[in-house]
Amino acid sequence: MSGFPISYAQRIKTLPPYLFKAIDDMKQAAVARGVDIINLGIGDPDLPTPEPIIKAMQEAVTKPQHHQYPSSSGMLSFRTAVADWYKRRFNVTADPKTEVVTLIGSKEGIGHVPLAFIDPGDVVLVPSPGYPVYPVATSFAGGTMHEMALTKQNKFLPDLGAIPKDILKKAKLMFLNSPNNPTSVIADKPFFNRVVDFAKEHHIIICHDAAYSEIYYDGKRPSSFLEAEGAMDVGVEFHSLSKTFNMTGWRIGFAVGRAEVIAGLAQIKSNMDSGQFQAIQEAGITALESDDQLTDGLRAIYQERRDVLVAGLKNLGLQFETPAAAFYVWIEVPKGYTSASFTAHLLEKAGIVTTPGNGFGAPGEGYIRMTITTTKDRLAEAVDRMKKIGW
Ligand SMILES: *Cc1c(COP(=O)(O)O)cnc(C)c1O
Repeated sequence: MSGFPISYAQRIKTLPPYLFKAIDDMKQAAVARGVDIINLGIGDPDLPTPEPIIKAMQEAVTKPQHHQYPSSSGMLSFRTAVADWYKRRFNVTADPKTEVVTLIGSKEGIGHVPLAFIDPGDVVLVPSPGYPVYPVATSFAGGTMHEMALTKQNKFLPDLGAIPKDILKKAKLMFLNSPNNPTSVIADKPFFNRVVDFAKEHHIIICHDAAYSEIYYDGKRPSSFLEAEGAMDVGVEFHSLSKTFNMTGWRIGFAVGRAEVIAGLAQIKSNMDSGQFQAIQEAGITALESDDQLTDGLRAIYQERRDVLVAGLKNLGLQFETPAAAFYVWIEVPKGYTSASFTAHLLEKAGIVTTPGNGFGAPGEGYIRMTITTTKDRLAEAVDRMKKIGW
């Protein structure tokens, strides 16, 4: 670094401090000491991509027509598979030509959408705790974020009535996320209906992140924001094959919804990237057309893991809501601890990596997040270790 005479841009300099650095350092030190670490810190599926998807990719990769630049908005065949999947899964009708765009992972679309609508001075409403990409993408676009606190009192759903009037005047876009990372809470249909009314009244674009809609328990399928009456008029939904099909490394997702929002996003994309490799989109079509054949088995594995972890943690007397979806258990830290100190305690005394809740935004203080993206034996082992140290 020293000697380089040019400073970083403000957008880099003003990035929030990386709150997970302390825990990363502690983890590295524990690994160096030879500690057998149980990593309950990351939300990345540990299982391989299902075989039929890999086969489709192997076949597609040999075809010369896929070796050229793709369209930045995505292949019409992929977008049609997305629209068909929305119809079957949610009974939502979308025009693949104008209401669907292929993304290089949903993070790419979430990161780019503020660039299409946000000018300096505009406000973006973000759930907090939440996925860090929402505030960072807001800041990169020159916007100002307003945190909507997700608290136990409001059942971890944004309290729309609590957003100040002067903020609402400047608000242009709202991010929402259900099933939620990090709380695992599912928003119900009445909430989505309120959001549609609110968006219409205050002229706000809703950007709903549904990355976890297919990771659910006890057979209870979460609904799509776009199922709410009028939702297609006010917003878009971001989706991803990452979590549903164990495809985080492939980078394939999509957005569905209001044509003007999709067009804005597509316009940014056509100037920033050239779309996703068509062979990956071909594999994505196979994934989407498989419906539940590939995912039922995965859900059964996650259900077993969730049940092991939840039962174990309940036995220990920890306070949390049993997750109905997603990979996460959002746990209140015991009395006398902060998010950071409880995370450090579990790592130092039990070799368990978790994520401090305040890393997802200030209202996450007082919580830690545990993930189930590891085997049920390791989850049981984590509970045993916590019992031994009396957590
Ligand atoms: C994992 C995740 C995503 C998906 O990211 P991709 O870029 O599609 O891999 C989106 N939103 C949230 C909240 C996530 O946790």
